Amino acid sequence: MTPSPRLLLTIDYESWFALSRRHDFLASEKRFALDEGYSRDAIDPILEMLGEAKASFYLVGELVEWYPDLPQKIFNAGHEVGFHCQVHRPLTIVSDIKHDLQTSAGWRKKYKVHGFRAPMINTVESVYPLLEQNNFTYSSSLYAPTGTILQKGKIWEIPASTLPLLGRPSNFHAPRRMDLSLIFGGEFPYGSSFMSGLFAKTVFKIIEKELKAGLSPVIFLHPYEIVPPTRWPARLARDLFANPLLFPFTRNKSFFLNDLLHNFPISTVEAYVNEAAQ
Ligand SMILES: [Zn+2]
Repeated sequence: MTPSPRLLLTIDYESWFALSRRHDFLASEKRFALDEGYSRDAIDPILEMLGEAKASFYLVGELVEWYPDLPQKIFNAGHEVGFHCQVHRPLTIVSDIKHDLQTSAGWRKKYKVHGFRAPMINTVESVYPLLEQNNFTYSSSLYAPTGTILQKGKIWEIPASTLPLLGRPSNFHAPRRMDLSLIFGGEFPYGSSFMSGLFAKTVFKIIEKELKAGLSPVIFLHPYEIVPPTRWPARLARDLFANPLLFPFTRNKSFFLNDLLHNFPISTVEAYVNEAAQ
Protein backbone atom coordinates (compact mmCIF):
# COMPACT_ATOMS: atom_id res chain seq x y z
CA MET A 1 0.00 0.00 0.00
CA THR A 2 1.30 3.47 -0.79
CA PRO A 3 1.06 5.53 2.39
CA SER A 4 -0.48 9.00 2.21
CA PRO A 5 2.13 11.70 1.63
CA ARG A 6 3.65 13.11 4.79
CA LEU A 7 6.86 14.64 6.03
CA LEU A 8 9.08 12.02 7.65
CA LEU A 9 10.73 14.06 10.37
CA THR A 10 13.85 12.52 11.86
CA ILE A 11 16.17 13.70 14.60
CA ASP A 12 19.67 12.29 14.91
CA TYR A 13 19.91 12.57 18.68
CA GLU A 14 23.56 13.19 19.50
CA SER A 15 25.60 15.56 21.65
CA TRP A 16 26.79 18.93 20.35
CA PHE A 17 30.36 17.66 19.95
CA ALA A 18 29.29 14.99 17.44
CA LEU A 19 30.00 17.57 14.71
CA SER A 20 33.69 17.30 15.56
CA ARG A 21 35.78 14.20 14.98
CA ARG A 22 38.29 15.27 17.66
CA HIS A 23 36.52 13.49 20.51
CA ASP A 24 35.70 10.18 18.82
CA PHE A 25 38.48 8.24 20.52
CA LEU A 26 38.21 9.70 24.02
CA ALA A 27 37.01 7.53 26.89
CA SER A 28 33.24 7.66 27.26
CA GLU A 29 33.52 9.46 30.65
CA LYS A 30 35.37 12.31 28.96
CA ARG A 31 32.64 12.73 26.37
CA PHE A 32 30.09 12.57 29.19
CA ALA A 33 31.89 15.48 30.86
CA LEU A 34 31.99 17.39 27.56
CA ASP A 35 28.24 16.94 27.12
CA GLU A 36 27.67 18.90 30.38
CA GLY A 37 24.13 17.51 30.63
CA TYR A 38 23.16 19.07 27.29
CA SER A 39 21.66 15.90 25.81
CA ARG A 40 19.63 15.32 28.97
CA ASP A 41 18.28 18.87 29.14
CA ALA A 42 17.50 19.36 25.43
CA ILE A 43 14.92 16.59 25.21
CA ASP A 44 12.08 18.19 27.20
CA PRO A 45 11.91 21.40 25.12
CA ILE A 46 12.15 19.36 21.90
CA LEU A 47 9.31 17.06 22.93
CA GLU A 48 7.24 20.07 23.94
CA MET A 49 7.87 21.77 20.61
CA LEU A 50 6.79 18.66 18.68
CA GLY A 51 3.41 18.63 20.44
CA GLU A 52 1.20 16.00 18.80
CA ALA A 53 3.52 15.40 15.83
CA LYS A 54 5.45 12.14 16.00
CA ALA A 55 9.07 12.00 14.89
CA SER A 56 11.80 9.37 14.59
CA PHE A 57 14.67 9.85 17.03
CA TYR A 58 17.87 7.96 16.13
CA LEU A 59 19.81 7.77 19.36
CA VAL A 60 23.50 7.52 20.11
CA GLY A 61 23.59 4.59 22.55
CA GLU A 62 26.22 6.18 24.74
CA LEU A 63 23.65 8.84 25.65
CA VAL A 64 21.24 6.11 26.75
CA GLU A 65 23.91 4.87 29.16
CA TRP A 66 24.53 8.38 30.49
CA TYR A 67 20.86 9.35 30.74
CA PRO A 68 18.56 6.30 31.02
CA ASP A 69 15.49 8.59 31.18
CA LEU A 70 16.22 9.93 27.70
CA PRO A 71 14.87 7.04 25.55
CA GLN A 72 12.04 6.50 28.04
CA LYS A 73 10.84 10.09 27.61
CA ILE A 74 10.94 9.82 23.81
CA PHE A 75 9.15 6.47 23.90
CA ASN A 76 6.50 7.62 26.40
CA ALA A 77 5.68 10.62 24.23
CA GLY A 78 4.82 8.21 21.38
CA HIS A 79 7.80 8.92 19.15
CA GLU A 80 9.94 6.32 17.47
CA VAL A 81 13.20 5.36 19.17
CA GLY A 82 15.75 4.36 16.54
CA PHE A 83 19.45 3.58 16.47
CA HIS A 84 22.14 5.99 15.25
CA CYS A 85 25.21 4.16 16.62
CA GLN A 86 26.60 3.34 20.06
CA VAL A 87 29.43 5.90 19.87
CA HIS A 88 29.22 8.67 17.26
CA ARG A 89 31.93 8.30 14.62
CA PRO A 90 32.14 7.11 11.00
CA LEU A 91 30.58 3.63 11.09
CA THR A 92 31.54 1.91 7.84
CA ILE A 93 33.74 -0.97 9.01
CA VAL A 94 31.91 -4.25 9.57
CA SER A 95 33.66 -5.05 12.87
CA ASP A 96 32.72 -1.57 14.21
CA ILE A 97 29.09 -1.97 13.12
CA LYS A 98 28.94 -5.40 14.76
CA HIS A 99 30.43 -3.99 17.94
CA ASP A 100 27.86 -1.17 18.10
CA LEU A 101 25.00 -3.58 17.43
CA GLN A 102 26.19 -5.85 20.23
CA THR A 103 26.66 -3.13 22.81
CA SER A 104 23.26 -1.57 22.04
CA ALA A 105 21.25 -4.82 22.02
CA GLY A 106 19.75 -4.29 25.50
CA TRP A 107 18.30 -0.83 25.04
CA ARG A 108 17.28 -1.49 21.45
CA LYS A 109 15.12 -4.38 22.62
CA LYS A 110 13.63 -2.39 25.49
CA TYR A 111 12.55 0.49 23.25
CA LYS A 112 11.47 -1.65 20.28
CA VAL A 113 14.07 -0.21 17.93
CA HIS A 114 13.55 -1.20 14.28
CA GLY A 115 15.15 1.71 12.42
CA PHE A 116 18.78 2.60 11.75
CA ARG A 117 20.37 5.86 10.62
CA ALA A 118 24.11 5.64 9.91
CA PRO A 119 26.25 8.45 11.38
CA MET A 120 26.89 11.16 8.78
CA ILE A 121 24.49 9.21 6.47
CA ASN A 122 27.47 7.19 5.36
CA THR A 123 27.18 3.42 5.22
CA VAL A 124 28.18 0.32 3.27
CA GLU A 125 26.13 -2.43 1.61
CA SER A 126 27.30 -4.97 4.20
CA VAL A 127 25.33 -3.14 6.92
CA TYR A 128 22.01 -4.51 5.64
CA PRO A 129 22.47 -8.24 6.44
CA LEU A 130 23.70 -7.20 9.91
CA LEU A 131 20.57 -5.09 10.44
CA GLU A 132 18.47 -8.04 9.34
CA GLN A 133 20.14 -10.29 11.91
CA ASN A 134 19.50 -7.69 14.64
CA ASN A 135 15.72 -7.26 14.27
CA PHE A 136 15.73 -4.08 12.24
CA THR A 137 13.10 -3.54 9.57
CA TYR A 138 14.48 -0.44 7.91
CA SER A 139 17.41 1.90 7.49
CA SER A 140 17.60 5.55 6.45
CA SER A 141 21.29 5.75 5.70
CA LEU A 142 21.60 6.90 2.08
CA TYR A 143 20.74 10.06 0.18
CA ALA A 144 18.40 9.57 -2.78
CA PRO A 145 15.53 11.35 -4.54
CA THR A 146 12.33 11.57 -2.48
CA GLY A 147 10.06 8.59 -3.12
CA THR A 148 12.97 6.17 -3.55
CA ILE A 149 12.25 3.06 -1.48
CA LEU A 150 14.83 0.32 -1.77
CA GLN A 151 14.79 -3.32 -0.66
CA LYS A 152 18.15 -4.44 0.63
CA GLY A 153 17.46 -8.08 1.41
CA LYS A 154 14.65 -7.88 3.97
CA ILE A 155 15.61 -4.37 5.05
CA TRP A 156 13.80 -1.37 3.63
CA GLU A 157 16.02 1.59 2.85
CA ILE A 158 14.16 4.91 3.11
CA PRO A 159 16.80 7.48 2.09
CA ALA A 160 17.16 11.06 3.27
CA SER A 161 15.70 13.25 0.54
CA THR A 162 17.41 14.80 -2.44
CA LEU A 163 15.91 16.72 -5.34
CA PRO A 164 17.38 15.44 -8.63
CA LEU A 165 18.03 18.36 -10.96
CA LEU A 166 19.63 16.43 -13.83
CA GLY A 167 17.30 13.44 -14.13
CA ARG A 168 16.85 10.44 -11.89
CA PRO A 169 20.01 8.60 -10.84
CA SER A 170 20.21 4.84 -11.37
CA ASN A 171 22.82 3.69 -8.85
CA PHE A 172 21.52 3.24 -5.31
CA HIS A 173 24.37 1.30 -3.80
CA ALA A 174 25.80 2.37 -0.46
CA PRO A 175 27.49 4.68 0.20
CA ARG A 176 25.35 7.50 -1.17
CA ARG A 177 26.50 10.29 1.11
CA MET A 178 26.77 14.02 0.84
CA ASP A 179 29.91 14.38 -1.25
CA LEU A 180 30.93 15.99 -4.50
CA SER A 181 29.78 13.08 -6.64
CA LEU A 182 26.24 13.48 -5.26
CA ILE A 183 26.26 17.24 -5.85
CA PHE A 184 27.88 17.03 -9.30
CA GLY A 185 25.37 14.29 -10.15
CA GLY A 186 22.78 17.05 -9.82
CA GLU A 187 21.13 16.05 -6.54
CA PHE A 188 20.23 18.76 -4.06
CA PRO A 189 20.24 16.99 -0.66
CA TYR A 190 17.52 19.12 0.90
CA GLY A 191 16.82 16.48 3.57
CA SER A 192 20.06 17.44 5.28
CA SER A 193 20.09 20.06 8.02
CA PHE A 194 23.17 21.42 6.24
CA MET A 195 20.81 22.65 3.50
CA SER A 196 18.06 23.87 5.85
CA GLY A 197 20.83 25.76 7.67
CA LEU A 198 21.66 27.66 4.49
CA PHE A 199 18.41 27.71 2.52
CA ALA A 200 15.53 27.16 4.96
CA LYS A 201 12.93 28.89 2.76
CA THR A 202 13.97 26.96 -0.34
CA VAL A 203 13.89 23.68 1.56
CA PHE A 204 10.42 24.51 2.90
CA LYS A 205 9.16 25.18 -0.65
CA ILE A 206 10.67 21.95 -1.98
CA ILE A 207 9.00 19.96 0.81
CA GLU A 208 5.67 21.63 0.00
CA LYS A 209 6.04 20.78 -3.69
CA GLU A 210 7.09 17.17 -3.08
CA LEU A 211 4.13 16.60 -0.76
CA LYS A 212 1.75 18.02 -3.39
CA ALA A 213 3.27 15.56 -5.87
CA GLY A 214 2.31 12.72 -3.50
CA LEU A 215 5.83 12.09 -2.17
CA SER A 216 7.00 11.80 1.45
CA PRO A 217 10.21 13.77 2.09
CA VAL A 218 12.70 12.50 4.68
CA ILE A 219 14.55 15.27 6.49
CA PHE A 220 16.77 15.31 9.54
CA LEU A 221 17.68 17.74 12.28
CA HIS A 222 19.94 17.54 15.34
CA PRO A 223 19.08 18.56 18.91
CA TYR A 224 21.69 21.36 18.89
CA GLU A 225 19.89 22.89 15.90
CA ILE A 226 16.61 23.05 17.83
CA VAL A 227 17.82 23.85 21.36
CA PRO A 228 21.17 25.67 21.07
CA PRO A 229 23.69 24.71 23.78
CA THR A 230 25.09 27.49 25.96
CA ARG A 231 28.11 29.34 24.47
CA TRP A 232 27.01 28.25 21.01
CA PRO A 233 28.61 28.05 18.54
CA ALA A 234 31.64 29.51 20.35
CA ARG A 235 32.34 26.21 22.07
CA LEU A 236 32.81 24.70 18.61
CA ALA A 237 35.09 27.54 17.43
CA ARG A 238 38.20 25.45 16.88
CA ASP A 239 36.30 23.00 14.66
CA LEU A 240 34.53 25.79 12.78
CA PHE A 241 37.86 27.41 11.92
CA ALA A 242 39.23 24.09 10.73
CA ASN A 243 36.06 23.21 8.80
CA PRO A 244 33.77 26.16 7.97
CA LEU A 245 31.36 23.70 6.29
CA LEU A 246 30.17 22.81 9.79
CA PHE A 247 28.68 26.28 10.16
CA PRO A 248 25.21 25.49 8.68
CA PHE A 249 24.82 22.76 11.34
CA THR A 250 25.13 25.37 14.07
CA ARG A 251 22.27 27.56 12.82
CA ASN A 252 19.14 27.66 14.97
CA LYS A 253 16.41 25.78 13.10
CA SER A 254 13.66 25.94 15.73
CA PHE A 255 11.74 28.43 13.54
CA PHE A 256 12.14 26.17 10.54
CA LEU A 257 10.90 23.22 12.62
CA ASN A 258 7.90 25.22 13.83
CA ASP A 259 7.01 26.09 10.24
CA LEU A 260 7.15 22.42 9.30
CA LEU A 261 5.02 21.41 12.29
CA HIS A 262 2.36 24.01 11.50
CA ASN A 263 2.10 23.31 7.79
CA PHE A 264 2.62 19.65 7.01
CA PRO A 265 1.35 16.20 8.07
CA ILE A 266 4.18 14.46 9.89
CA SER A 267 4.90 10.89 10.88
CA THR A 268 7.68 8.60 11.99
CA VAL A 269 9.55 6.58 9.39
CA GLU A 270 8.50 3.40 11.17
CA ALA A 271 4.78 4.23 10.78
CA TYR A 272 5.40 4.94 7.09
CA VAL A 273 7.25 1.65 6.57
CA ASN A 274 4.55 -0.31 8.40
CA GLU A 275 1.86 1.20 6.17
CA ALA A 276 3.90 0.60 3.02
CA ALA A 277 4.43 -3.05 4.00
CA GLN A 278 0.69 -3.77 4.33
ZN1 LIG B 1 24.99 11.94 13.60
